[in-house]
Amino acid sequence: MRVAVLLFAAALSGCQSQSVPCEVPSPPVPDSLQRDVNALTTPEMAGRKTGSEGARLAADYLVERFSTLGMTPWHGSIRHPFQYGPGWLAKSGENLVVWVPGPPPYRLVMAHYDHLGRKQGQFHPGADDNASGVAVLLALAEQAQQHPPAQGVIFAALDAEENGLYGSKALVQQLTGVELEWVLNLDMVGRPPKDGRAQLWWRHGWQGGEQALNTLQPHLCTEAGRRRMKGQDGIHYDSLHASDHYPFHQASVNWLYLGVPPHRDYHSPNDRAERLDYPFMSRVLAASWALLNRP
Ligand SMILES: [Zn+2]
Repeated sequence: MRVAVLLFAAALSGCQSQSVPCEVPSPPVPDSLQRDVNALTTPEMAGRKTGSEGARLAADYLVERFSTLGMTPWHGSIRHPFQYGPGWLAKSGENLVVWVPGPPPYRLVMAHYDHLGRKQGQFHPGADDNASGVAVLLALAEQAQQHPPAQGVIFAALDAEENGLYGSKALVQQLTGVELEWVLNLDMVGRPPKDGRAQLWWRHGWQGGEQALNTLQPHLCTEAGRRRMKGQDGIHYDSLHASDHYPFHQASVNWLYLGVPPHRDYHSPNDRAERLDYPFMSRVLAASWALLNRP
């Protein structure tokens, strides 16, 4: 999740709740959730900043995980490198894409694996942002591989979200001509707010969003995220631009974003693995799985 568009959400998160209590029991928590978050947040991965050695190690780890699960590479390769930025200043990133073959239209689940690296000398592990989403993505891919849903499902771990949504922009290009029913963006799914509710955002005016919310709710306390908010300083916050769903929005693809409101450890060195709520993540997993299996 990107910082610029979130400042106001953080400022407002204190005045959000008037809600009825919601409780949903957690299914068993797969060991892989914590194992994957631990692996992605080690000091060796150094905060997974795009283009760094740490990001390369993270990509290697994810390729190994997808391969061990027996996932089918997308168009012959799991690795889908891309360039971004102007001319001689161009930089490179790498998306990792697999799928569970099935008929179109396809459903796409994505989660960015890059984070901030080091800032002011401090290691930013990025456990919630977004090792959490990647861990759920891997667990979902495993379930889909074992029990293929009725339609084909593409799973993408994306690079270069934090510095400008470049991985998702590249993925939109890489998927040109592919028939997508919707995309689900998992970004920050490890730290529920006090009232325990996740937020679902979706393309304005798309009826599928409301249906998706109904599908998620038996498995995960979820509310419809607010689309626009006004910060105390008068600047408007728009959830549309906050994460990797935006390039899909621009490409007229229906999108869903599932995540949590920003918290005190957002983009800080304290966004650490032991602070995540793994039972909550197992509910996110169950809810997302229900979505993938909805007719
Ligand atoms: Zn972020």
